[in-house]
Formats: sequence, structure tokens, C-alpha cells
Amino acid sequence: MPDPLAILKSIFGYDRFRGAQAEIIGHVIDGGDALVLMPTGGGKSLCYQIPALCRDGVGVVVSPLIALMQDQVSALRQVGVRAAALNSTLGYGEMVELERQMRAGELDLVYVAPERLMTEAFLTQLERCRLALFAIDEAHCVSQWGHDFRPEYLQLAALHERFPAVPRIALTATADGPTRREIVEKLSLAQGREFVSSFDRPNIRYRVAPKGSSARHQLLSFLKAEHPRDAGIVYRLSRSKVEDTADWLRQQGFNALPYHAGLDKDTRARNQDRFLKEEGLIMVATIAFGMGIDKPDVRFVAHLDLPKSMEAYYQETGRAGRDGLPSDAWMVYGLQDVARMRQMVADSEASDAKKRLEQLKLNALLGFCETTRCRRQVILDYFGESSEPCGNCDTCLEPVESFDGTLAAQKALSCVYRTGQIFGAGHVIDVLTGADGERVRKLGHDRLSTFGIGRDIGKEEWKSIFRQLVAAGLLRVDMDNHGSLLLTEACRAVLRGEERLSLRRDPAPKRAGRAARARPTLADPHDDALFQELRALRLELARDQGVPPYVIFHDTTLLEMARDKPRSLTAMAGLSGMGRSKLDSYGQAFLEVIDGYA
Ligand code: ADP
Ligand code: ZN
Repeated sequence: MPDPLAILKSIFGYDRFRGAQAEIIGHVIDGGDALVLMPTGGGKSLCYQIPALCRDGVGVVVSPLIALMQDQVSALRQVGVRAAALNSTLGYGEMVELERQMRAGELDLVYVAPERLMTEAFLTQLERCRLALFAIDEAHCVSQWGHDFRPEYLQLAALHERFPAVPRIALTATADGPTRREIVEKLSLAQGREFVSSFDRPNIRYRVAPKGSSARHQLLSFLKAEHPRDAGIVYRLSRSKVEDTADWLRQQGFNALPYHAGLDKDTRARNQDRFLKEEGLIMVATIAFGMGIDKPDVRFVAHLDLPKSMEAYYQETGRAGRDGLPSDAWMVYGLQDVARMRQMVADSEASDAKKRLEQLKLNALLGFCETTRCRRQVILDYFGESSEPCGNCDTCLEPVESFDGTLAAQKALSCVYRTGQIFGAGHVIDVLTGADGERVRKLGHDRLSTFGIGRDIGKEEWKSIFRQLVAAGLLRVDMDNHGSLLLTEACRAVLRGEERLSLRRDPAPKRAGRAARARPTLADPHDDALFQELRALRLELARDQGVPPYVIFHDTTLLEMARDKPRSLTAMAGLSGMGRSKLDSYGQAFLEVIDGYA
């Protein structure tokens, strides 16, 4: 039997296995069933691709999305693996040919949608083939608890009964306990082994900042300073905001496209395709975008609106940096966003129990936003992992002070009460700071006992305090009534002085680019020029074949190439991601660029 490590090197061009890969691969090669929980970018694919290559017969991979399959198949063909996708876009003739190849043992891997796999006709075909394994990708789709439930996945349990001798490996990046248990149960994996990796994504830098007066200008400075040429995703809550932000970014000279469920199918497909195949494109999108986007070089994920839970936040930001290179998860949010999300949950059609759960999930997310601790610690804590402060998030890089905000909160809450709980934060802050405005005077609010009791604190800081009071649930924003603030039951203890309140002091917005950037860089600027030339060649090759550039080479390989400047094919072969087949196909062309440059 071929040696997994030799295959890793000769076909995929990597020197060593990562994390639990070797163990998982060994287990499956020996015929064991497995459930693999690994974060996005952890390297799940090799866990079934290599066993499929080592074992006799064809590996059957169940995958929920056609777009995802085609990407994987093109990537595998580039490294010389005999792979194919079986889906509804295939004509009858092609289908028959593919089945013949499977029977003849001419294919290493076949990707297939669950509904196609579980047809009687296809299962009968499979009985006539040698099968290396079944891989069930995105296995959380079997879970009703999770967010991507696919009823077709439930039928996959029957695989075990029909093909008891064929090992099954289920893989997912969704780790929570209930989902995990449901996968084991629904896919009858109780006899298999579970491989659980850490869910940390160390290359992603988490950053959350309060919204200033113009969120889009904050986004613009971030992009200009840190990601001027990079591919990324900007998440927005509504379709109209998606359109606005995309238009605006284009006016600012960025290559940005919109994506949301209101666009027709063709436009969506075209925009997604461009995102994959062009370099440096920004997708402005609702959460409709992202599932199954395997693009490894997404350098940033920006949120201009709040996600609805930690799970959603982690899934969305997780689309950054699959290739392991430094990437940013960047978010700005303000009081309005908190109010809007709370309202959305309250107004949803869900049952009361579900709404309560959703409010709790939102609270956890807001706690993460308002934290003064290491953000990664808060995230991993939430998912049940403990860790040290990471040194790669905003609060680690620029520690945030907290202060005893009890007195300030009491002043703020009393002022809301005195003004009758019918005004928004702007007016209440005017009263607190003793602003000499016409509106304040007309309403007689300059005669209130709380008028001017907050002069010692600046307006911006008050805004931050009000945002935190709303986030902590001590104040509620009435969206149906011009955003007026209302006291909640929870604020009593603070007003009576029975409970102390610790608040964060938002750091002043810093000038862009002061902290080290979270993007892959080459120490020598000349190397960067070479890197750009290598990228240009890659894009040209990709265009000729109609595949995304990363299918030719990942940035990691080109960065190494630009840094080490190999001058022979033998030297090229040492690069990470340079398997034999890619060396044969592209080695010479890239050598010429390096020669021309030297
Ligand atoms: P996942 O499916 O878990 O999100 P992938 O299988 O797409 O992750 O792998 C993520 C990235 O890591 C890919 O670019 C892949 O080529 C790379 N990778 C996986 N295993 C290794 C390894 N052992 N050495 C180097 N790179 C690896
Ligand atoms: Zn940190």
C-alpha cells in the first residue's frame, strides 16, 4: 500500500502532516469510521483524500454544494488526482461514462450530492465498484439543531447498512456538543472514533471597534491602510445596505460586488464566480453569501452590522485566511446596531422559548464586543476551550482599560428616567452634559435635577457608556418610538447601588496602520514586486483554464517562491504546495519569471 507521507509530498507538495491528520488518515486507511471536527482551514480534505488514494477503489465524497465540488475537483486534477463530480449538470452520456470509469477503477475520488448518491440506481452502481471509503463533508448538515440542516443528509445513515465494510469519515467545522451528538447518532457513527481539534484560528486577528459618525469611512481607512489590493468580504444586514456599500466602495476605487438573495440567480452566480476567479475583489454581502466558499486567500472579513450570535460571527469570520496566512476579522458596531438586533429577535415569528435563546445568544455576542479581555479567549471560552491571551487581537495588542462605571451609569439611568423615557441617547446626553440647546430649553430639561450632572465626561464617552448600558440590557431602545430609551427591570440594582458596573474605556480611534498589519508580507520590497509578477502569471494561467488562481498555486507557495527564488526545477520542488504534477505543468513558466527578475 502506498505510504501516506510519500503521497503528501509527491502529490500535494507538503512535507509533514498537520495536527491530527496523520492519525486520522491512518485510522481510515485501516478501515475505521471517524468523525473529524476541525476548524475551517484546518486541513480536513486531506483526511479523506489521502486514504482514498492509499486504499483500493474509489472514494465517494458527499458534499452539499455543486460549486464546492467543482472547485475541489479542479484542485485535485491540478495535482494529478483522478477526480470527478457527479451532479445534475452532467448529461446522460457523461454520467454513463463516469459510472464506467468508477467500475473500471479509473477514478480515485468522486464527489456527489447526497440526493444523487442515495438514489437506488446509483447505489446499485456502487455495489458493482470497489469502494475505498465514504467521506461525508459538512456533516453538520445532518443536524436539525445546527444552521444548515439538509434533510437529504438524513438518508446517509443507510450507507452503513448497505456497505458495512466501507469506512466512513464525517467531517465538519461546526463543533458544538448538540450538533456533534446528532451527527454521531444520525450517521450511526457510535463505533467510530472522534477526532476533535482546537477551534482556534491563530492567523485571524480579531478586532472590534465602536462605530463613529461614519462607519463607511472607518471601513475605507481600514481597507486603504491594510488591504488595498486584497480579496475580502464585507457583511451587511440588509439588501439595500449591501447595494449602497458596494456602490460606494466602487466609487472609492475598489473592485466591489454585491451579493444577496434579492439578486437574480445568474447575477449571484456571476458575482460569486468573479470573487473566486479574480484577484483582490471585495464581496459586499448579506449572510446569503459564504456557505461553501473555499477561497483560501480571503484576507479580511468586515462586519458593518452585528451578526446575530457568536456562532454566526465565528462562521462568517472563519471564511478569512483558510490558507493560514495572516488575516483580519474586523467589525464596527454602535448603539443603533444593538437596538436593531434586539428588535429583530423580539419581532421574529419564533416561539417565546426560541426568542429567549436567541436573546441569550445575542447577549453573548455583545459581551464579546464589549470585552476588555483577549477576544480569542472570549471566543474559545464560548466554545468550551481554554487558552492564553493570544497577542493577536485588538485587546491584546492595545489593552483596553476598564473603569468603575457605577456612578456614571446611575447618572445616565436617572436622566433617562427624569426625561420621561421618551428620548433617544442624543438628547439625554445633551441634558447630562448641560448642553445649552434650544430643544433642551423648550422642553424645560435645563431645570431637571439631572441637567449637567455629567459635565465631567465627554460626549463621545457618554455615547460609549449608553451603548454599553444597552448592550448589558440595563436600557432598552424602543425602535417603534424613534429610538427612545427605556429603563429595564435589570437596571434597578445598579440604580440602588446594590450592583457595581465595570465598563470599558473605548480606546481613541487610532490612526490607520500604526499596529503591525495582519496581512502576509515579504520583508524585502523587491520580493514583493516579484510576488506581484508571480501572481500575474498565476492569474493568466488560471484564466486560460477557467479555474480560480488558487487552484494553480496558493499564496503560500508564491510567497515562498518570491522569498527563496529557486533557480532550478529541483529547487522548486522543495516549495510547499509544489507536488510533482504542478512542477511538471508550471515549474518552467514560473522559473522564467524568477530568472527574468534576477
Ligand atoms: P478545511 O477543509 O479544513 O477548511 P482544507 O482541507 O481546505 O481545510 O485545507 C486548508 C489549507 O491547508 C489548504 O490550503 C491546504 O492545502 C492546506 N493544508 C492542509 N494540510 C496541510 C499540510 N499537512 N501541510 C501544509 N498545508 C496543508
Ligand atoms: Zn488576544
